[in-house]
Amino acid sequence: MDHLDKLESRSIHILREAYSEFNNICMLWSVGKDSTVMLWLARKAFFGHVPIPLVHIDTSYMIPEMIKHRDKLAKEWRLDMIYGQDEETLAAGETFPEGKLSHLECCGRLKTAALKNTLNGNWHRYRYNHNKDQYELDSNREPYTGVIVGARADEEGSRSKERYFSPRDRNNDWDIGDQPPEFWDQYKTDFAPGTHVRIHPLLDWTELDVWEYIQREKIPMVSLYFDQGQGKRYRSLGCAPCTEPVESTASTVDEVVAELKTGKFANIAERDGRAQDKEDGGGLEELRKDGYM
Ligand code: SF4
Repeated sequence: MDHLDKLESRSIHILREAYSEFNNICMLWSVGKDSTVMLWLARKAFFGHVPIPLVHIDTSYMIPEMIKHRDKLAKEWRLDMIYGQDEETLAAGETFPEGKLSHLECCGRLKTAALKNTLNGNWHRYRYNHNKDQYELDSNREPYTGVIVGARADEEGSRSKERYFSPRDRNNDWDIGDQPPEFWDQYKTDFAPGTHVRIHPLLDWTELDVWEYIQREKIPMVSLYFDQGQGKRYRSLGCAPCTEPVESTASTVDEVVAELKTGKFANIAERDGRAQDKEDGGGLEELRKDGYM
């Protein structure tokens, strides 16, 4: 087995373990490269069919290509696709940068609160109806007690503190100092009632691993990751007003892999183009403690 085979095998093991141990789980799909690789792994884990609902938190500010790519793959791969959003804040027009909310407050509402309330079923969820080719209000309000997330430990500081199976309390709060140890591939999957668990099958993958796997498996990626002739591409995707591309002429997966191997970005954080990661030192960890992905 080579390096990618070992990573794949462990991730598939965790996905199967999660599916067998938790009653009502979903998988977060941001449409970025990591969660799309995770979705690909889930298709492998369950022989082509993904038996887990895919949840997308739509801030409504996502770069439009991302939504097109989401719906294209949802159709092609017959995914059980759900999205949720903070309809009240959006209707009130309070969002950053035009509205009165600061950057972190806006993320706190459109991402963290939207996620929390989509997962617990308090807010509307919209489910893709494959027969009608449209999203419809979902009558199922049952809370998800486990959520599979494509976070990687090397992505930024707070993610490196996660476990493969990371518990959150009833309020979705994360106690970083009180997490179960995970030695020798032994994972704690038995938690007290009311615990909400985040499952991280990609924790050990690096950015280069992800791109080499995309290259090997020929996984379809949203075009934003590639230069379209302007000498820029996105290294990490998010809301259009708050995400900056990097200088790069890599226009194919092979070129992205080659570029990463040069070490060009070795001293630049992968999420450097994401404004919320830079705010008030430790801002992202505070958001994550409160439920942010
Ligand atoms: S990334 Fe920007 S637009 Fe998106 S939720 Fe955060 S502040 Fe609002």
